[in-house]
Amino acid sequence: MTIRFYNTLSSQVEEFTPVEAGKVRMYSCGPTVYDFAHIGNFRSFLFADLIRRFLELTGLDVEHVMNITDVGHMTDDAVADGAGEDKMQVAAQRLKEDKKSGKVPEGAIENPDDPYQVARYYTEAFLEDARLLGLKVAFEARENILHATEQIGPMQEMIARLIDRGHAYVGGDGVVYYSVESFPEYGHLSGNTLDHLQSGAGGRVSDADQAAKKHPADFMLWKPDSHHIMKWDSPWGTGYPGWHIECSAMALKRFGVDTIDIHTGGEDLIFPHHECEIAQSCGATGADSFARFWMHARFLLVEGEKMSKSQGNFFTVRDVLEGRVTGRPVHPAVLRYELLKSHYRSNMNFTVKGLQDSAGAVKRLQDFRTKCEDASGGEVAEVGNSHPVISEFISALSDDLNMSGALAAVLPWAAESPSDPAEALGVLREINSVLAVAPIDLELSETSGAGDSDPDVQSLCRQLDEARANKDYSSADELRQKIIDMGYNVHTGREGTTAERLLA
Ligand code: AMP
Ligand code: ZN
Repeated sequence: MTIRFYNTLSSQVEEFTPVEAGKVRMYSCGPTVYDFAHIGNFRSFLFADLIRRFLELTGLDVEHVMNITDVGHMTDDAVADGAGEDKMQVAAQRLKEDKKSGKVPEGAIENPDDPYQVARYYTEAFLEDARLLGLKVAFEARENILHATEQIGPMQEMIARLIDRGHAYVGGDGVVYYSVESFPEYGHLSGNTLDHLQSGAGGRVSDADQAAKKHPADFMLWKPDSHHIMKWDSPWGTGYPGWHIECSAMALKRFGVDTIDIHTGGEDLIFPHHECEIAQSCGATGADSFARFWMHARFLLVEGEKMSKSQGNFFTVRDVLEGRVTGRPVHPAVLRYELLKSHYRSNMNFTVKGLQDSAGAVKRLQDFRTKCEDASGGEVAEVGNSHPVISEFISALSDDLNMSGALAAVLPWAAESPSDPAEALGVLREINSVLAVAPIDLELSETSGAGDSDPDVQSLCRQLDEARANKDYSSADELRQKIIDMGYNVHTGREGTTAERLLA
């Protein structure tokens, strides 16, 4: 079987094989934690999860790493040079208003002026949402979710290496910039040229910018700023890193290789973020390639417009699950299915009708499962990937993640009465390892947030609340991870912490 994926770098569908046989290293750009993630963001995250789960089904061992951007993502992110304000600091201002108006729950963020508290609150919220939606990497938060603020050392090492190798310089304003002219391949991913970028920068380039930089497209690696709240000492002054260097440094450090197999994100990250990541990573290592496959999800749209925080036309995962969009609660599996069912390289329009169709499909799979379980007495047969339904499912996904083909292999089959229910359960288990919408002990009618009665889990929840009350966040994190490792999602709200059993 040949796996073929569309590679943004070559603008072609290519055969996918990992650098190291049997093992895939995949990095995904994660959320900027200055607000709740919206379902457009989750379209991109679940797209990465789909790649991972599908490759695992084919027998590959996938190491999936995602970052949390908790510093350095500037408001003017459509241009490369790091202009604007740090989104985390802007969030602090917004939160002060939200706190006054009661939009942020009492006690959730004690001090909105502290971007660390803001980041912690939204990181936890992201991980909760991610686990509800079955994003597998969120269950491995300790090893594979990397926080930018905890990886400043590797970023500084990389900046120093880039300066040594002639790819970076300290500008006239003291900021460390990457010199795009030092990297001839700059622009290959996005189809930009330096001439185009130079003229495109046009009126935006002030005299001060001109004096500071060698080329208008040079972008920030380190910004000395002693007034910035999140700041670290460095050879280039106390300050903070640029958003692009974060991902390059974290990916290379975490994987310990120069070339990874897959890098994912939403389509808006192609330029400048991923273009800059390539320049930095290859500039620092000297390798020809940073990621062999660059894969991007097209946008989720609302009424034809990109769903985005800056445009304010967004629904958070909570809005949808808690019924604020459709008037009734939506099961997480339904939202997961909805966000996965269209091909990742087509824009997807979010509609209530689409959600209703997804609810029908998920219900069919769950009903089929129940029917098989009743008939087989719970016996699940081992089935291999050569089973016709699994084989058709895999072959569709091997064709650049052809999801509608994959679902067409499964849904009609799940509408029939199974001749061998134990075998059908075996097939469903394999299919569901990718779809993750029909776990055995989640009832379709059940919504998120149900408390769990396991006394051990409850006691851990109380210990977690105590640790938080004592501001002992590292113990709180350890306890949280312990509960997650026991197979639960953890939610910390106004009334304290509750845990809910989940199957990843
Ligand atoms: P951010 O939290 O802004 O850093 O974005 C996190 C991820 O969501 C990135 O991969 C973005 O490309 C992606 N993203 C943002 N808006 C959308 C959207 N409307 N549809 C799909 N992906 C999106
Ligand atoms: Zn990134």
